[in-house]
Amino acid sequence: MNPLPIFILAIALGATPLLAADPDVIVRTDIPFGNAANVRVQKDGAVTEVRFTPDPHGGPECLWFCFRVCRPHSNGSALGQVRLVLECPETMLGGGRPADFRPVFRPADGDWERTGAPDLIELPDGRRQAAWVLNVAKASLDFAFAFPYGRDEVDRLVKQTGRYWRVDTLGVSQGGRPLLRLSNDYGVAKGDRPGLYLMARQHSGEVSGSWVLDGVLRRFAELGDAAPLVWAVPLANIDGVEQGDYGKDNFPYDLNRAWGNPPMRHETLVLQQDMRRWSRRCRPLAGFDFHAPGASDADGVFAFVHNSEGLPEVTKQAPLWAGVAGESLGSEFASAKFVRSGDYNSRWNTPRFTGFCQEGMKIPGVSFETPYGVIHKTVMTREKYQEVGRRIADALAARAKSMMNKKADKK
Ligand SMILES: [Zn+2]
Repeated sequence: MNPLPIFILAIALGATPLLAADPDVIVRTDIPFGNAANVRVQKDGAVTEVRFTPDPHGGPECLWFCFRVCRPHSNGSALGQVRLVLECPETMLGGGRPADFRPVFRPADGDWERTGAPDLIELPDGRRQAAWVLNVAKASLDFAFAFPYGRDEVDRLVKQTGRYWRVDTLGVSQGGRPLLRLSNDYGVAKGDRPGLYLMARQHSGEVSGSWVLDGVLRRFAELGDAAPLVWAVPLANIDGVEQGDYGKDNFPYDLNRAWGNPPMRHETLVLQQDMRRWSRRCRPLAGFDFHAPGASDADGVFAFVHNSEGLPEVTKQAPLWAGVAGESLGSEFASAKFVRSGDYNSRWNTPRFTGFCQEGMKIPGVSFETPYGVIHKTVMTREKYQEVGRRIADALAARAKSMMNKKADKK
């Protein structure tokens, strides 16, 4: 992808003033996780204004954005004041309340930080926009909907946990990228160590799910041998992650609707094989999947479980697994309505990961949803996401242990 050459004159949109295009600043989406559409850069006095909309990348929904504002030549001067205007937020999934958006920014060579609350603009026809003004002392600025999480972050997790996690390649994605699985124990044939199977980024833009899984895996590493046997796929839709897709309901097939028999994506074919392998090498207890809800959801973490009517008895444990996680999160992080039914209307009514857990594997399956920006007025940092993960890990480890104790008592 080429850098977007933004030398065109701005088109007046609603009350937007017609400003001169700024040839000294460009926007690039050819960076990791890059995503932005309809980008215009213009000059408003001393302020550089960047207007953009998240790019659906060919899918029915959009939400994720990530781009670089920079000088066309390296070693340029500082950008100074930059005004970032997110247009059409209502077209993002769950984007009806942009007041709760808190994107992240990173000047060249710096670390990501949250923005403050946006300025909200209402246009004469009722459309809305959200804007942030940043003072940038560097020649480039990255701007994204939330803290990105990709291969580098997985590598860092593995290094920082003293290589407690083994990394193996299960196969490849539909786009030919390696699908990685972390494990703390390969188990043995017919082994009886209690086992959990974890997953994130089936919807590739749902980065808060990744930061929570990161916290879960860090906590299990601290628990060491007291942790259950865990196999985890941190970047399930790796193509979407690297292409900067939001990846919810996208074509050719939403990954989390492709879990039927036969599987409708190569990733789910690979992952189903691995889950069957896992279940033969431990005592498989449950599967957990980490997601993010709508863009402006700020009500706290919650869990989706399937309606288990007519399903095997063991899958009725899904609300119990979800419930202990909710108690561990407490009112600080959990939504008041923590356990919810995931049987909402969908573009594809084919099986999800949790459906495969329950019907294919005969184990309970739970999806956790963690908001991107704000939880009960607390702005979420990477450390707070990880804290959510640590609390979930403690709850899952305790329940796995108590189930094993009960089994031992029966002997
Ligand atoms: Zn999702």
